Amino acid sequence: MKIEIPSYVSVLMNVLNENGYECFIVGGAVRSALLSLPVHDYDLTTNALPVQMKEVFHDFRTIETGIQHGTLTVMSDHHPVEITTYRKDAGYSDHRHPDRVEFTDALKEDCARRDFTINAMACGTDGKIHDFFNGREDLENRLIRCIGIPQERFDEDALRILRALRFAARLGFSIDEKTSDALLSCRALLNFISMERIRDELMGLLEAPGAPALFEQYIKVFETIIPELKDCPDTEKEVMFRRLANSVTDPLIRVALILCSLRDPAQIMKRMKFSNHETDIVMNLLNLKERNTDTSSDIRRIIRDLKTEFERFARFVCAMDESKNYAAIMKMHEDIINAQQCCTLRQLAVKGNDLVQAGLKGRQISEALDLLLEEVIDMKLPNDRTALLDYLKQKEKADCSASE
Ligand code: ATP
Ligand code: MG
Repeated sequence: MKIEIPSYVSVLMNVLNENGYECFIVGGAVRSALLSLPVHDYDLTTNALPVQMKEVFHDFRTIETGIQHGTLTVMSDHHPVEITTYRKDAGYSDHRHPDRVEFTDALKEDCARRDFTINAMACGTDGKIHDFFNGREDLENRLIRCIGIPQERFDEDALRILRALRFAARLGFSIDEKTSDALLSCRALLNFISMERIRDELMGLLEAPGAPALFEQYIKVFETIIPELKDCPDTEKEVMFRRLANSVTDPLIRVALILCSLRDPAQIMKRMKFSNHETDIVMNLLNLKERNTDTSSDIRRIIRDLKTEFERFARFVCAMDESKNYAAIMKMHEDIINAQQCCTLRQLAVKGNDLVQAGLKGRQISEALDLLLEEVIDMKLPNDRTALLDYLKQKEKADCSASE
């Protein structure tokens, strides 16, 4: 099988080749192409040193942000393409960054520093695949396998533990036994990795179809990242695993399904450096998780209080509770939207100003608006300005005579 190389990539490879340098597509692009999956970005590797690359690409727009690590980004037909000098990484005393970057002129050494065999294949403009570590065979056998001794590779960079799980979940691959044993025995090294990088890998993993099964199989790894999981009794964990298995590939839904059995989810999300926006969405789903979803009024009340897409809420509650009917909930929602029924203060026919004119002040105004919305949502009142203001007048009268 020959890999098709888009012209904006081959142009750059040819420029290097014509100047006497080697250049190969490497990593994810080769892996995806061999699996007939779409390729999103092409990483190139070359024996040209960074200064030589700059010279060769002086007619192109280039970005030098990664230049200390040997990476030059070259703009080709509006696409940014990263080209990196062959590297071997030396010494990893902090379990996350190489102590220093050494350039090399051997493609094999550059491939050897990479994480898994399936990520270490290189392809030239002639379409020939250079595969020093049997990546192709592992692709065929659907296996994630470290290059070299797994223990050593995870010891160098513990993030690879989560990368192994992410690739396995995304591709539906198994993890080679030695790699699997090592990722479990090395899991404590994840404590050396920054929370931001862990969170990004975790979100990438939770987005993958195979995430629920791997989460269960490698729960010990996740207990290292979220120690609160250790306090969760086995029976509750079983429920969590089942809910995850029922879920769609929306990482925030899956975060909510995991955190709903744990103490202080907001604190956990803060510690994991989730954005305020992501935390708000997950906490909002958790706050609404016990709401009834049986009637149209129930659904309108949820629309009022929801801070994310309704579909996400519906998927979430259906994963939480298998007895709920996703299609029925979505149908009620659709009917409400099509009929433009009032669910939010913004849609209410009465505004704060109307109530100021009616003589209400401060908190009375928001309380009255909330009350009117509740009545409209329950269809006890029509969403009609006159009817709503009349209702308030009647109520005021009734309240006055009751207190007399
Ligand atoms: P994706 O589709 O997720 O981008 P990818 O294979 O392109 O997959 P990247 O994270 O973009 O993954 O990294 C590009 C390549 O760099 C990998 O294929 C791998 O060869 C190498 N690589 C990335 N991170 C590491 C790491 N932590 N240790 C060793 N090699 C790595
Ligand atoms: Mg990539």
